[in-house]
Amino acid sequence: MADKRDYYEVLGVAKGASEDEIKKAYRKVAKKYHPDLNPGNAEAEAKFKEAGEAYEVLSDAEKRQRYDQFGHAGVDPNFGAGGAGGPFGGNPFGGMDFDLGDIFSSFFGGAGGGRQSNPNGPRRGSDVETSVVIDFMEAAKGCKQQVTVSTVDHCTECGGSGAAKGTFPKTCPQCGGRGRVVRQQQTPFGVMQTEAACPQCRGAGKIIETPCRACGGSGQTRRSQTVGINIPAGIDDGQVITVRGKGNAGRNGGPAGDLRVGVHVRPHPFFERDEYDILVDVPITFAQAALGGEVEIPTINGTETYRLKEGTQTGETIRLRGKGFPVINSRRNMVGDQIVRFVVEIPTHLSSSQKKKIRELDEDLSEKNHSSGRSFRDKIKKAFK
Ligand SMILES: [Zn+2]
Ligand SMILES: [Zn+2]
Repeated sequence: MADKRDYYEVLGVAKGASEDEIKKAYRKVAKKYHPDLNPGNAEAEAKFKEAGEAYEVLSDAEKRQRYDQFGHAGVDPNFGAGGAGGPFGGNPFGGMDFDLGDIFSSFFGGAGGGRQSNPNGPRRGSDVETSVVIDFMEAAKGCKQQVTVSTVDHCTECGGSGAAKGTFPKTCPQCGGRGRVVRQQQTPFGVMQTEAACPQCRGAGKIIETPCRACGGSGQTRRSQTVGINIPAGIDDGQVITVRGKGNAGRNGGPAGDLRVGVHVRPHPFFERDEYDILVDVPITFAQAALGGEVEIPTINGTETYRLKEGTQTGETIRLRGKGFPVINSRRNMVGDQIVRFVVEIPTHLSSSQKKKIRELDEDLSEKNHSSGRSFRDKIKKAFK
């Protein structure tokens, strides 16, 4: 107890600091030492706790006065002087009504910050998610799709106020329109003074006495809307397209959320995708493989004729540059390749005269014609000697 730091020093404010300065200073310190941002750092945790304790006292006019007069003894319940009773009455594990979002939002000016200071301030609508299924070719070429989604919109009957025509919402008497009430709570990091939504108006800051019939007082109704989306060429299965402002309507003049469309791509009967490349297996006959010749190769832009070299082996691949998927948003219009793998089809269901011809051919062939077989046999000999 003796080396307990001065609360003003903990928060880094002057003795005569205003309520607002204390709040700001506390948020700054709490953000810096928040356990979520400093996992496993005992020192940070202690500082976080210390700041919470300091704020708990300095943000309360009565406790602050006692502290100013008597120091730590004036407010520490362990001293048994005056401070006992109040702050430790609550449920010790009532949950931390205090999260990082709360801290961050006040710093980065997010919607949360507006919510805390003014429940009637503009709030962005939430995002709406849906999905579409497209064909492989549509993914390769790009396409236009339409999705129909149910979104929250302003009630046209009451113009979004939630109050019946000719009436107006009134300011909540319990919170005076703030929408939040102050509450003290025991947390694993010490006693915290937290703000919670006002129970009477449930955070709205206003009360509607005669609700609008159309929306039941919410000021919002659902409607079905059809949205056209442009799917760029090169899109891959599982990617998400965001359409700005097509989500749920905002509140109090806030912007609408976004529509997020997950894209699923149906598999193709013979093309396969590998990043931006397209893979395809092209079967060739035994004669084509041995003698070479022209083969038809399918690409996403139609078929192409390819001149096969003599003695093409099964599994040999060729790369057709720039015949793959476009790389979305690439600076130089980069495009993947198509990789073609030739697979030699061994004839089946042979007639006896066909078999005879193959045998004759085989007798005629020498080791020279089967160079990889010969070298393989040589390797076996060496390995087992
Ligand atoms: Zn309405
Ligand atoms: Zn209220």
